[in-house]
Amino acid sequence: MVRTRIAPSPTGSDVHVGSIATALMNYAWAKKNNGQFIIRIEDTDRTRIVEGGEAQMLKTLKRIGLVADESPIVGGPYAPYRQSERLDIYKKYAEELVAKGKAYYCICTPERLTKMRNEQQTKKQIPKYDRLCLKKQDQISKIKDQTPHVIRLQIPEGQIKFNDAVRGEITIDAKNIDDQVILKSDGFPTYHLGVVIDDYLMKITHVIRGEEWLPSTPKHVILYRAFGWELPVFAHISLLRNPDKSKLSKRKNPVWTSYYLDQGIFPEALLNYLALMGWSHPEGKDIFSLEEYIRVFDIKDIQTSSPVFDPVKLEWMNGMYIRQKSIRQLADQILEFYKDKKLDEALVEKSIPLIQERIKKLSDYLTLCEFFFKAPEKYEIDITDKKDFFGKVHSELEKVADWKALAIGESLANLAKKLEIKNSQFFADMRMVITGKKISPPLNESMEILGKNECLKRLTIN
Ligand code: GLU
Repeated sequence: MVRTRIAPSPTGSDVHVGSIATALMNYAWAKKNNGQFIIRIEDTDRTRIVEGGEAQMLKTLKRIGLVADESPIVGGPYAPYRQSERLDIYKKYAEELVAKGKAYYCICTPERLTKMRNEQQTKKQIPKYDRLCLKKQDQISKIKDQTPHVIRLQIPEGQIKFNDAVRGEITIDAKNIDDQVILKSDGFPTYHLGVVIDDYLMKITHVIRGEEWLPSTPKHVILYRAFGWELPVFAHISLLRNPDKSKLSKRKNPVWTSYYLDQGIFPEALLNYLALMGWSHPEGKDIFSLEEYIRVFDIKDIQTSSPVFDPVKLEWMNGMYIRQKSIRQLADQILEFYKDKKLDEALVEKSIPLIQERIKKLSDYLTLCEFFFKAPEKYEIDITDKKDFFGKVHSELEKVADWKALAIGESLANLAKKLEIKNSQFFADMRMVITGKKISPPLNESMEILGKNECLKRLTIN
């Protein structure tokens, strides 16, 4: 059975959008093959853990709909696998490698290691552990229980070859690889040991992950072979870039997934956009559902070029999703998005035909439509010197009996003509007094929705 996973480390305050792109491929590949997708929290680097990071990550993954098919608590509430709860397992396997002569204990102090590294650097050598302890294993095994120690993997000589489903065959000369620490003195495994043991025990068949892990993979391959385990399929995908091709980082654009969701980007639109990062729909489509993606996605079609994550395009795509909604559906989403504001439901529904084509995310709604719910408290352009003008408009509009956009528009256009004011100026002033803004939904229609009394009230400015 195909089993995939994502293995985030809670070292950030939320899930990076690039990790969602990776998670999505893993999720899709599992679903496509009637397999299973799991979530494993890799929390073994205790110094880098961000408090609350794990809870936030799980919340975001759930919000976006990428939920795991399995939990270590059978029959209980959902929980992810957590490496910090599996320390006994890593220790047992690390010791097994020592017993097999594939790994060894090391009691070197940090001071000695620093000194050794400095000397190697002065001699312009690649810094590598000099295997001092390897020669003293008999001695060390007698005192190790009373002495702080780590376990190191003994990197074998020769070439390491493996296949990557995206990048093809990869060959690395092992002579440049240091004897990695696989179990730390605090009993925690390092990433390499934890990831290999868990991917094996959790029966992961396909490891789809970011290319930043490619340099680690030869070490993993050595570990798989040392244990005598079969390799999973590796697929290393390219990292997301900013539109200027720089690495996606917080400095240029927001990278946290909840930032986009909180702005009212729909989870399905974000997934749709991220699906296009490093993969294209076989028919060249931009907009497709998750079900369709699962149907047509194939690991072999993952591209190696660096995908560009452009928030402007993401918003454009979300706008397409907004347009596909019925008025009722969009109203529900807007009401839910702004639930603290307790917006008038009927008014929201009436306003939608005026803005559905214009907004790109839910948070655009009130920027455009706040004036429906309350009169402007300030105006983007000062109109205090136009009291007389608005007085004239007031008298004219009072006469409109049938308060409909068409009649309102005609009455305003007639007045503009009579006063010899250019239409553009006339309507800009009207827009300002009614909405407080230079940009608004179509004015006559908005005035119809606001009602005659409210419009006349807004024309009386102080
Ligand atoms: N813990 C690693 C991370 O934070 C997982 C890398 C992998 O998928 O093997 O992304």
